[in-house]
Formats: sequence, C-alpha cells, structure tokens
Amino acid sequence: MSGPDKPETLAIHAGTRLQGSRTVDLVAPVHLSAVGYFESSEDLDASLDGKDFVYARIRAQNASLLEEAVAALEGAEAAVTYGSGMAALRALWDAQGLRPGDRVVMALDGYGATRALYKQLAARSGVELHALLLSDKDAPARMAALAPRFLLAEAITNPLLNMPDLPELARAAHAVGAVFAVDGTFSSPVLQRTLQQGADYALQSSTKWINGHSDATGGVVAGSAERIQPLLAARVLDGAILGPFEAWLTLRGLRTLPVRMAAHSAHALAVAQRLAADGRVTRVLYPGLPSHPQHAVAARLLPRGYGGMVAFEMAHGGRAEVFRFLERVKLARPAPTLGDVATLVMHPASAAARRMTAEERAQAGISERLVRVSVGLEDPDDIAEDLLQAVAP
Ligand code: PLP
Repeated sequence: MSGPDKPETLAIHAGTRLQGSRTVDLVAPVHLSAVGYFESSEDLDASLDGKDFVYARIRAQNASLLEEAVAALEGAEAAVTYGSGMAALRALWDAQGLRPGDRVVMALDGYGATRALYKQLAARSGVELHALLLSDKDAPARMAALAPRFLLAEAITNPLLNMPDLPELARAAHAVGAVFAVDGTFSSPVLQRTLQQGADYALQSSTKWINGHSDATGGVVAGSAERIQPLLAARVLDGAILGPFEAWLTLRGLRTLPVRMAAHSAHALAVAQRLAADGRVTRVLYPGLPSHPQHAVAARLLPRGYGGMVAFEMAHGGRAEVFRFLERVKLARPAPTLGDVATLVMHPASAAARRMTAEERAQAGISERLVRVSVGLEDPDDIAEDLLQAVAP
C-alpha cells in the first residue's frame, strides 16, 4: 500500500474512520451497543460473517479502529486485539495447531508469566518446550538444530533487556520451516517494527507503551492478512475480545505513542548514564549504553531510540534491600507494570519473574538484587535523583 509511512503521521491518521459509514467523527465514539440489527435480513445474514458490525464478539467498532491503527504502525496488513497480552500469547499458541512431539522454542529470559503459560500448554498437549537465551551469538544455530514448529522471542527481554538479533533468528527459523513470533512489548511498534525484522507475527501487550497511561489492559497481534484471518476467526469462537472502552482508551493513548517513545528513550538514556556513574549500583542494563552486551544489535534494530526500560543491580544486599528501595522512592511508583507516563520501579525476582522457578531465574541471570525501571516523562534529573536517593548509602 502506498501512502504515509511515518509513525508520527500514522499514529494520528490511521484508524480514525470506520469503513462503510458516512459519518465523520473527529474522535470515534465509544460504541457500547453489544449488538445491532438490520432492516434487511440479507444485510443481517452478511453481517454475521463479520461483513458489518452486528455482534461485538464477531466484530466491534472500537476494537476494529485500534486494530487498523496498530496494523499501520507495525507496517502490517492486519491486526487482531485481545482482552490482555496474555490472551494474545495464548491465541498465538492455539493458532499453531501443535501436536504431541512438536517442538517450541522460547526465550529463557523472557516474561515469567509467558514462560509459565507456555510450560502449562506444552505439558497439556505433549509439546516439547525449549527455553534458550536467544540473544546469544550461537542461539540461531542452537534453535535451528531443534527444528521447532514455532519460535517466540521478545524483542527486548523482560526484565534483563537482552536483544536477540531478530533478522538472524528469522533467517534460521524460516530455514527450518518454523513460524516466528516476536513479543515487541518492550520496544513498541514505534521503535521497532518486528515484522520488517523478520517476524511472522508481531505481538504487543497494549497494556504497556501503546496505551501508555495504565488505564486499559489489552493485547494485539499484527501480521499478514493470511496469518491474522485465522486468529480473527478463532476469536469469534473463544471470545477473548477487547472491550469497547478499553479499545477507545488504548487508541487514545496510541495517538501520542511516537512522541512519548522519543521522550521515554531520551529520559531513559540520561537516567541510565547517571546510574552507571554511581558506585552504589552495578550492572546498569540499557540497550543504548555502549556497555550493553548487545549494543551493536540495538543500534541496528532500534534506530529511533533505545526505549524507556532500564535495569540495574544494587551493589550490596539482596531482596530485602530492594524492598527498602521500593519503599524509599518518592516520585517513582513501585508498580508491577511498565509503559506509564510516570516512572515505575519493580523487583523482577518477586514480580515479573515470580512465576519462574528459582532455578529458571538463576539460569536467566535474574538476581535478587535486580531492579527494573520504566522511565517516565518526568524531568530526567528528577528521576535519577529520586532513584539514587532511594539506593542505600
Ligand atoms: N509480554 C510482556 C513482555 C510483558 O511484559 C507482559 C506483561 O507484563 C505481557 C506480555 C502480558 O501482558 P498483559 O499484562 O497485558 O496480559
């Protein structure tokens, strides 16, 4: 499709007008009617196949607008929304039609709940699940040697901010016939269009950066029309839809995603540099720092900014010390999420990675001293000072 392709333009103009309607709203209304009707039975008949909006579980106005906007930002033909990021991850698994003995590879160091969900689904269906550190240099070869049917990576991993080389992984996955999905929640489609970097599906928890204001839970998967159509059809039956108000709030948040991501990236870089210069913290992890283990990959895959997530370790202490830190911050909020306008801090070992076993956390390198920061839109010096005053002397 030709036309504007810049996120700043797409975020404002994509998904503003419903197809097949003459009304021109400047802002689409929250469409709360769960069902409509038609004067003509032929029109009703066609609408039940999803050709118009008759029943919200089949096709709904606000979710459709959000799907159009996310597809535009991802550079995709289509997208499908869900009631949460986890529901989107579940739907992706289901869509693969995996059979006993099939292999699935996922990130060793990704979001703990995703790992727990896929472990559960694999155990139930007799699928072999392998977790690899996908940012390792030899990961594409090790993954390919397993010849999986399905590969799930995180574009920037939660919480360690490792960056797999997505184009390399995609080449290796496709060479062995694997379908490649990327959870791009940490970078957002504005900073990283994972489909252009080789993914077959681009997944987002829209609860995070896309919504950006922590007031609506949601998930979305984008890809080719051919890949998204079966997901849309499956959602009619499993009912994992996104509600109208959540879709409306998320689309409202998305309008400012490009400017927010630019600011979050600039602030996070400044905060990471301040932290790295302080002896009371160690192992400051930020893809934009030259010390980051995959900084060269990050420079190639994140041309518009390195994102708003930073992680670091306390130089001393363990869980108790991090818990005191979470109580001492004044501006930052100790909230177990990311992507808000406010700075958020969390202890991954007891939150994001809570559903991993202690052994899995150790394997991934998630220590008890690790802190994750979602850097907000406050003044970056204020954020850095708040974090540093909360670190023990
Ligand atoms: N993917 C990543 C990388 C996440 O960090 C999260 C949540 O923290 C999810 C998926 C799940 O999203 P949700 O909380 O919207 O279900």
